[in-house]
Amino acid sequence: MECDHNKLLRRNQGMKFIHDDFLLHSRTAARLYHQFAEGEPIFDYHCHLSPQDIAENRQFKNLFEIWLEGDHYKWRAMRANGVAERYCTGNAKPFEKFQAWAATVPHTLRNPLYHWTHLELKRYFGIDELLDEASAARIWAKAGQQLAGPELSAQGILKRFHVVALCTTDDPTDSLEHHRALATSDLATRVLPTFRPDKVLAVHQPAQFNAWIKRLEQAANREIRDLVRLLEALHQRHEYFHAHGCRLSDHGLTQCYADFCSLKTAAAIFSRARRGRAASPSEQAQFGAFMMLFFGRLDADKGWTKQLHLGALRNNNARLLSQLGPDTGFDSIGDFRQGTALAAYLDALERERALPKTIIYNSNPADNYLFATMLGNFPGRIPAQVQMGSGWWFLDQKEGMEWQLNALSNLGLLSRFVGMVTDSRSFMSYPRHEYFRRVLCNLIGRDVERGELPDDDTLLGPMIRNVCYANARQYLAVPAVGLGVEARKELAAGPCGTASRRRPGKPNRRNKDVEGQRQS
Ligand SMILES: [Zn+2]
Repeated sequence: MECDHNKLLRRNQGMKFIHDDFLLHSRTAARLYHQFAEGEPIFDYHCHLSPQDIAENRQFKNLFEIWLEGDHYKWRAMRANGVAERYCTGNAKPFEKFQAWAATVPHTLRNPLYHWTHLELKRYFGIDELLDEASAARIWAKAGQQLAGPELSAQGILKRFHVVALCTTDDPTDSLEHHRALATSDLATRVLPTFRPDKVLAVHQPAQFNAWIKRLEQAANREIRDLVRLLEALHQRHEYFHAHGCRLSDHGLTQCYADFCSLKTAAAIFSRARRGRAASPSEQAQFGAFMMLFFGRLDADKGWTKQLHLGALRNNNARLLSQLGPDTGFDSIGDFRQGTALAAYLDALERERALPKTIIYNSNPADNYLFATMLGNFPGRIPAQVQMGSGWWFLDQKEGMEWQLNALSNLGLLSRFVGMVTDSRSFMSYPRHEYFRRVLCNLIGRDVERGELPDDDTLLGPMIRNVCYANARQYLAVPAVGLGVEARKELAAGPCGTASRRRPGKPNRRNKDVEGQRQS
């Protein structure tokens, strides 16, 4: 084994930094990756891409637009490197900002940004050169030329990376006009919305809350005088999202809410917030618990998957928050207590047989084992009804992914895992799936070479393929994923029963679902 590793290292010496066996430290790992993981399609079921950019097939002018615009990971590294805000979020010219980033890159050695940067340059532009101050102008020009072509437009990128489906993150008041346009377009990728109703929980911030309720009134075309009307409007928007192919919801919470209260209490909190009185922390927690139970029931009723992103400590720099706004790179891993409230929330839904499929994303590595032990408490009719999401945010890197995979392996079933998501705002993030697959195959290959797993491709191959793609497709039950454009149009056109899914000749078990989705 050791001998093999040394041979491999020698073989890789003198190679480009991003080479075929990048991150694959044994022959078995490399073989497993190339044979079973590399060619699998991508189902990116949680991201923050702009549906408008996809619908309008945005063409990016330069590396700044596609790579730096909106990337708070890069801004953080630049600030840590002493770069002035003018070059991060300020008014410096695009090329000046890129130069500032390029000069920072050599300082990111051992930060995941160093790997991501070079993997992305290689996969999008075939660039092998390391990025630094000296190479910046050359790389800017070379990438800029290629960005003018159709292969690197928003839709070109989805095609190149074999993205069969992606789920954006959307407010319940969103019209979904771009999703609607995409549903009838020739784009092979299914672009579906996700229902993220975080703003309805903000009864402690009445100004923002009431502004949002006004938008909901417009979207649902009804007046929201009281809590019952609010629930009706949200139900209506949930149905509307469902009709547009939505099969996932998402909530960003510091902790689950578990201070359950009556309709009467929640209605009183709602009415006070509507009159401009901010809810106290305990009232906000009660209202949150009431609404989260309601959302759980809606999701269970429709067979959706609920995602819970738990534990981020956001907006920690008040001065810069007031200057730059949220999501600009001033967040941390929180140390909130998760276990009791998470168990109570899942259990409350389970008791009324209304627990939907649920994916819980953890942001604190100290809680990995806690989260992984929560899954087995709530078995359902399908394998792994409650899932542990892939390494999230600050854990979305090699070590964090390994921790998540190891916790899940030790305490749950890795073979049932629904796998990786980019969770990204950038069209340059698709190689994150490749990165994850390499990490996964490296772990499994290592175990095989140590004799801790059987060296049996009939056992390992399907597991790897499933974690890369098929588990997500099956678990999420999103309509028509994996079908070509023509087959989808055929299904949309009318009664169906003959169209196949991925392999010709296989019956399509979810035709009913497809028809339902196409009613809009
Ligand atoms: Zn997200």
